[in-house]
Amino acid sequence: MDEHPHRSFLCTSCGRSYSLDTHEWRCVDCGGAFRLEGGPGFGRDAINQSEFSLWRYSDSLPLSDRVSLGEGLTPLVPAVGFSANTYFKLEFLAPTGSFKDRGATTLVSFLKEMGIPEVVEDSSGNSAASLAAYCAKAGLRARIFVPSGASRAKTEQITAFGAELVPIPGPRSESARAAEKAAAEGGYYASHCWHPFIYEGLKTFAYEVAEQLDWRAPDNVVFPVGNGIFILGAYLGFLELHRAGITRGIPRLFAAQAAACAPIVEAIRRGETEPVVVQANETVAEGVRIANPVRGRDILEAIRNSKGSAIAVAEQDIVTTKNELALSGLFVEPTSPVAVAGLRRLLETRVIRPEETTIVPLTGSGLKTIGL
Ligand SMILES: *Cc1c(COP(=O)(O)O)cnc(C)c1O
Ligand SMILES: [Zn+2]
Repeated sequence: MDEHPHRSFLCTSCGRSYSLDTHEWRCVDCGGAFRLEGGPGFGRDAINQSEFSLWRYSDSLPLSDRVSLGEGLTPLVPAVGFSANTYFKLEFLAPTGSFKDRGATTLVSFLKEMGIPEVVEDSSGNSAASLAAYCAKAGLRARIFVPSGASRAKTEQITAFGAELVPIPGPRSESARAAEKAAAEGGYYASHCWHPFIYEGLKTFAYEVAEQLDWRAPDNVVFPVGNGIFILGAYLGFLELHRAGITRGIPRLFAAQAAACAPIVEAIRRGETEPVVVQANETVAEGVRIANPVRGRDILEAIRNSKGSAIAVAEQDIVTTKNELALSGLFVEPTSPVAVAGLRRLLETRVIRPEETTIVPLTGSGLKTIGL
C-alpha cells in the first residue's frame, strides 16, 4: 500500500503534474524543473529521539523505504575566530565526506521504492561519489559521466563504490549533455540538481539547525553556492518549520561564490531574476565553479524572499581561509571556506552583525582534495 498516496511531481514553471513513476526528469512541455507535491510537512512531535541520523525526522520525509549510511545529525560547533553566536555545522562528517549525502539518501531511497535498477548521473565530484555510495548500499547500478580531466581523488572514490565511470571530453556541460542523452535513450537520470527527492533530504539541514538551537531559527545562514541545491533544500526546510508554527520566521540566506565564477552574486547586484551569464574562470573552489545553475531563478527567489544577499570572494581569501580553518583543526576542501570568507566580508560591511546567530555549513572534507 502506498503510505503517501498524494505525492506527485509538479513543473515549477507551468504547473503540469506528473506521476512519480515518470522517467522524465523535467517538464516535456516547457523544460521546467520538477518539485515534489504532497509531502507531509514538518512534524515536531514526530521526531524519533532514538534515531541518531537524519532519519529521526522520517515522519516528515515522504518515503516508505530507507537506504541509509548513517548520514545527518552533524555537530554544530562554535566558530573559532568569530563572535559567540556564530557556528559551523560540520557537514563534512558525512559518510562520503560531503553534505551531498543528505540528498543521496532520500533520492536512492525513492529509487529503491520505485524499483529502479540502474541510474545515470553527471558530476565530477562529490554528488557522484555520494550517489555511487548509496547505490552500492541499495544494490543499484550507477553510470556516471565525468569530464575527462576530473581529479583522480574524486574519480577514485566514485569507482571504489562500484559505479561505472564514463569520461567525456570537453567542458563540464558536455558531461551533462551525455547524461541527458542516456536518459533520452531510456536511462533514469538521477540528477543531483533536477531530481526533487534530493531536496527532501537537504531539508533536514534546517530541521537539525532548529533542533540544535532549541527550536529557534538562526538569523543568518551563509552557504557556498554552485548549483544551489543546498541553499534551496535548506530554504524549503526553514519554510516548513515556519509554516508548522515552530519558528517565528526564516533565516536570511546568503550565497557566497568564488569571484571567478559568480552568476548569482552578479544577478543580485544587478537586480536580475535570472542568473547572469558569466565565464567559468579557474578557481580552487571546484565545487562552486558553476556558471549556469539549473535552478538559478529559484536560488535568487530564495535569497530575496529570505531578505538575504550574495557575496563574491577572491581566490586569495579562499586559500587563506582554508589554511586558517585547518590551523584551528578543521580540514575542509577549498569549496567550503568560500562561505566562511563570505561571512567575514558580510561582517565587515555590517550586513551581518556579530550579535546575530549565524550558521555556516562546512560542506566537504579536506581528505577529498589531498594531492591536488
Ligand atoms: C556541491 C558542493 C558545494 C556547492 O553546493 P551547491 O548545492 O551545488 O550550491 C559546496 N561544497 C561542497 C563540498 C560541495 O560538494
Ligand atoms: Zn512545464
